[in-house]
Amino acid sequence: MACITHENAVPRPSEAGALDFNPFEAMQPRASPAVPKALRNGARVKTQNVAPAGAYIPDINILTPHMRSPQYVQMSRAAAITLGVMPGQMHRCECTRCLNLLLTYPEGCRANCAYCGLARHREAERDYADRNFIRVDWPALPMEQVTEIVAGAGSQTPFHRMCISMITHPHSDADAVAVLKTWTRRIDPHALPVSILSNPTTMARADVQRLKALGADIFTVALDACTPELFERTRGRGVQSPHAWGKYWEILHDARDIFGPGKFGMHLIIGMGETEFEALSVVQQLVDLGGHSHMFCFFPEQGSLMDHLPATPRDQWRRVQLARYLIDYRGVRLQHMRFDDRGRVTDFGLPRAELDGIIDAGIAFRTSGCPGKLRDDVSACDRPYGDSPPSNIASYPFQPQGRDIVRIRRDLAMRRRVR
Ligand code: SF4
Repeated sequence: MACITHENAVPRPSEAGALDFNPFEAMQPRASPAVPKALRNGARVKTQNVAPAGAYIPDINILTPHMRSPQYVQMSRAAAITLGVMPGQMHRCECTRCLNLLLTYPEGCRANCAYCGLARHREAERDYADRNFIRVDWPALPMEQVTEIVAGAGSQTPFHRMCISMITHPHSDADAVAVLKTWTRRIDPHALPVSILSNPTTMARADVQRLKALGADIFTVALDACTPELFERTRGRGVQSPHAWGKYWEILHDARDIFGPGKFGMHLIIGMGETEFEALSVVQQLVDLGGHSHMFCFFPEQGSLMDHLPATPRDQWRRVQLARYLIDYRGVRLQHMRFDDRGRVTDFGLPRAELDGIIDAGIAFRTSGCPGKLRDDVSACDRPYGDSPPSNIASYPFQPQGRDIVRIRRDLAMRRRVR
């Protein structure tokens, strides 16, 4: 009879001679290019003033129409395919379970986050609605039409959740409210819950209260950078961007008070220069507050100020994915885990047999985010290939099994050995 044994869970280099994590020193964004005055604030789109007509499918360097929220919203390519407004297929996915909507304006997001494809410094290069964001294009549609399609599908809708993503813009607080109202006029938010991906920089506590009162179910804050230094370097003064670490935590605490336990969360990007210990300290802090973390693997977004930097090695990513899942859903605490002198996880704080069962179940390696209708630890927001190509999946938008688990175990240096 075959007997199954395991190698030790010791971190090892991704490739010979390569680091198995992205250190702070190596992850410096490049300088922001100057934007000619004539191209700032969406001037080209506003000057040409082309009226929108139905769905807008992005292309490169085509003049986008003059469209703005709350009448128009952009949506992820996966959402557009699932909604039926754009042709296409997704590797090993039938559809996405989350309708991710993004507020849109010709002048775009006024922040300049170093890892983001929507950042302000791209004004000279591409109109806002044509910019890639988490690796894909974001088509635009009238919000009324989006609502009509989903309401028309009734209980047959493939979506388990809708999410309104705000950007940094003076109108985004009011427009998030307007989009939510358009939705709830036709769709019961108890049947199809709504998440808010907020923009704390422009928000006050009263804005959080208002969104809750209008029927939002979960409120999230995209901290993204896991330490104050990294935040400043990638989202603050380091890149002439307006965000402040303290403000993000202030709004997160407001969300905890207003939305309550299990109904608020924080987005974190792994591999931008934080240590695994630092990232998981934030995860533990969120659990202690009553919330969850939603994780993204750093990928060098084309056109961003970090597009010259390496994607997160899979070793680092898998360790953090697994440890985060244990803290968020299995009651393991940071203090139960062990770390080496570079902050890497060396012990996950569980007996090996238990850990093996969790790895084989695969859920820890799925995309993390707000839950859908399946179970609490399975996210509706599956963001197909938002943080990796399908050829080397970081966050699995489907249930990993068989060869996927073998690959995950290889990343973790925790292969099963049959003898
Ligand atoms: S605020 Fe959000 S959308 Fe705007 S540049 Fe930063 S990460 Fe991108």
